[in-house]
Amino acid sequence: MNTNQELILIKNGELALKGLNRNTFEAILCKNLRRNLKHIGEFDVQKSQSTIYVFPKTDDADLDLAADRVSKTFGIAAYSRAKMVEKELGAICRACADYFKDTLSLASTFKVEAKRADKSFPHPSPEICATVGEYLLDTFSNLQVDVHNPDVTVVVEIRDFGAFIHALQLPGAGGMPIGTGGKCGLLLSGGIDSPVAAYMMAKRGITLCGIHFASPPYTSERAEQKVVDLLEKITPYTGYAELYVVPFTHIQEEIRDHCPEDLFTLIMRRFMMRCATALAKEKNCEALITGESVGQVASQTIPAMACTEAVTDLPVFRPCIGMDKEEIVTISRKIGTFDISIEPYEDCCTVFTPRHPRTRPKLAMLEQAEQALDVEALVDEALKNTYRRKILY
Ligand code: ATP
Ligand code: MG
Repeated sequence: MNTNQELILIKNGELALKGLNRNTFEAILCKNLRRNLKHIGEFDVQKSQSTIYVFPKTDDADLDLAADRVSKTFGIAAYSRAKMVEKELGAICRACADYFKDTLSLASTFKVEAKRADKSFPHPSPEICATVGEYLLDTFSNLQVDVHNPDVTVVVEIRDFGAFIHALQLPGAGGMPIGTGGKCGLLLSGGIDSPVAAYMMAKRGITLCGIHFASPPYTSERAEQKVVDLLEKITPYTGYAELYVVPFTHIQEEIRDHCPEDLFTLIMRRFMMRCATALAKEKNCEALITGESVGQVASQTIPAMACTEAVTDLPVFRPCIGMDKEEIVTISRKIGTFDISIEPYEDCCTVFTPRHPRTRPKLAMLEQAEQALDVEALVDEALKNTYRRKILY
């Protein structure tokens, strides 16, 4: 580590680590950070005394982009950009004035906070605050001290291998590091809800395996690309993501030709669940995730969801279940998927939609209607023709 270098400091404080010890948690978090930063430049990720340090290894490394990636990495409570300085009070004063010159020259008030983790440093914290504070008052004639409500807070930390100066911490993405919560099959449409469901489950440390049903020529290549774009948009949060595309045309045509129109959507959704379950198990997933929300559409009433869930023996997680559309939209804007989700391409769910879908179906009714189909052969055929799409991140 060089002194006089800008870097990112990550601190997790007291994390809720039930069931996972701190070392495992931090080791996975460091691995995820290395992976998330790998594609944007050369960075060193190191852990020391419950702080994780992200150092640029080259002069041209983009620290703005790295900070953005850090802010989207789950398992981080708070982080800050910092400057590393030699552990000498004069050097610290000069570095504070230089590092904060843009904000301090525009501010009216400030305060200095000091933490001395390295007790061998000869100056106690109050002395560090007083010395740095005086130096800044001398340097910036516009400034006054306000310890209660300052415009700018300058933090000085004396640690084992250097002094660090930084502003107040920024909130991290929270949650658990990806990979600590197992793996789930994500039913991903091109809509607004399922990318939000993906984000919410990834936040709990779950690795995602995307599953998308496509019905060409009723759905276009562009609709499939939209799903790839959505997944790429959330990979800074989800880390690694896979996407499997299941050809769904034959299944939908068979339902259209042989089943009652009012049951079409529900039978189709039961087929989605069957295919997703088989595929998810093959990919070592332990549960399925959907973007369903109670009452949003006819197929999302409680009886309808009970009927679709009846064909799978995997747990089905629906993180949006109790949310209003407005709340879902707010998250989708925050994670940057909204603008892609509203691109107008057909989803297979909107192909052959019944005029009067049933909202209170009975399981027996659906099982009866499905007898007109060779369910197993249709599922097998769809899975045989399933293909993997490459996701960039
Ligand atoms: P979304 O924004 O998730 O598309 P929606 O309101 O359009 O929400 P539906 O189309 O009824 O919801 O679908 C409900 C859920 O079923 C979706 O959230 C998604 O998990 C799954 N789903 C729908 N269509 C597909 C598809 N083509 N491929 C994979 N999963 C799908
Ligand atoms: Mg949809």
